[in-house]
Order: sequence, then structure tokens, then C-alpha cells
Amino acid sequence: EPGLYIVATPIGNLGDLSPRAVDVLSRADVVAVEDSRVTGGLLRHIGVKRPMTPYHDHNAEGVRPGLVARMSVEAVALVSDAGTPLISDPGYKLVRDARAAGHKVVTVPGPCAAVAALTLAGLPTDRFLFLGFLPSKAHARSEAIAEVAGVRATLVLYESGPRLAACLAALAEGLGDREAAVAREITKRFEEAVTGTLSELAARYVDAPPKGEIVVVVAPPGEAVPATQLDADVALREALTRLP
Ligand code: SAM
Repeated sequence: EPGLYIVATPIGNLGDLSPRAVDVLSRADVVAVEDSRVTGGLLRHIGVKRPMTPYHDHNAEGVRPGLVARMSVEAVALVSDAGTPLISDPGYKLVRDARAAGHKVVTVPGPCAAVAALTLAGLPTDRFLFLGFLPSKAHARSEAIAEVAGVRATLVLYESGPRLAACLAALAEGLGDREAAVAREITKRFEEAVTGTLSELAARYVDAPPKGEIVVVVAPPGEAVPATQLDADVALREALTRLP
């Protein structure tokens, strides 16, 4: 059926491509891609041969009207290199214009590094704020951090290995030394989530910038430092001795 199909793809583990994603991709008249080598590899892996057309930050403005026009007669699938399109990736303007033109918009949800990191971090998930990539320049980064210092929500952000330690130090300075987690290489062979306070994590990575892809998760302000089971046992015994 004609329209726009937003298709999430794996963030490192091909097993995470959903059967519905395979189905939609194999029926698409055209697949709009960030990088045809990356998506070409994925399509080959699932044995699907569909025409691809580039849609990325540098050509989006120019090709969007043509792509939207095609949606009245063709099924256009949008994918990014990895994960969910529109999340720190191109796509929202395509959805906006597809809607404005009255086309059908369908989502095929799936992997998203930000949400996956939240499931690994062990920090509150009832309210979270996704910050994408913070600015790379120190001053702009500090300003961006100051803007969210008062927000009562878990913070989630993307960062690169070489910048991780400086970013964690800036977060510690701007937010206070909150609990945090660094989730790395999610769904891949060397997946790990390292937890600690922001300053502990900054110290850990300062001389050893980690390889691979990274999500930082930061606790909301005023989170009590998590009590260990031992603390809980002591507190319970103590409380019991005081009971009348
Ligand atoms: N749209 C994607 C999504 O749904 O997660 C994110 C695209 S953004 C351009 C790429 C960033 O996502 C990486 O620099 C990294 O911070 C994060 N990321 C992607 N895959 C990851 C993974 N397997 N493990 C940890 N972080 C990942």
C-alpha cells in the first residue's frame, strides 16, 4: 500500500530485525537510506532486493518533495544506518510533509539505543529526557547541561568514546555528582553497562577512552545513593530492636 513506512533496524545484532520489518522492506517500492552500503548489507542479509535512494542530512531538503510525491503511488520505506529513524537521525520533516500531503504514515518500531540503554542502567525510567548528542565544544556543552540541571527526570544522551570522559566531567560539574551508567556496544558481542557516579566514571575513562558506541544515562537530581543489601539488612535489624 502506498505511503511512508518508518522502519527500525538493528543497532548491532541482526537478530533484532523484526519479521514485520523484513516484510515491509521486501514490499517497499523504494527504501530511503542514510548510507546505501550500510542498508545494502542489511537487505542482502535478509535476501531482499529493493531500489534504494539516499536520504540524509546533506540532501534531505532537495529530495524531500520528490520523495513525498512518490508516496501517493508507492510504498516508501525510511531506514537509518542503525536503530530507529528520527531519533538523532533524519526523518521528522519527511513524516511532517507526508502527513501534510495526506499520505498514510506507518511505523515499524524496533531497536533504539536510548531506550535499550535505559533498560540496562538500573536508574529510574518513569520520567526521562533524551538529549541526543550534546554540543562537542566545551562551552556550548556546559550551557546545554545547565539548561537541564533542574529537570526531575533521568537524562539519556549519546556520546562518542574520545569525548566520553570530558562529557562525564562536564555533567558532574553541571549537575552534581549523580549516579550514572555508561552503556556500550549494546546488543553486540562486547555489550556492557558500567555504573558509578559521574566523577567515578569520568576518572575511569579519562586515560582509557572506550571503543564503540555509547549511551550515557544519568540519574535525576536528588536520587538517594542506592543502599546496598547489607545497609538494608543492618537498618532492618536495627529497626526491629527498637520495636516495642
Ligand atoms: N537512531 C539511532 C537509535 O535509534 O538509537 C541512533 C542514531 S545516532 C546517529 C548514533 C548513536 O547512537 C551512537 O553514536 C551511539 O551514541 C548510539 N548507539 C547506536 N547504537 C548503539 C549501540 N549498539 N550501543 C550503544 N550506543 C549506540
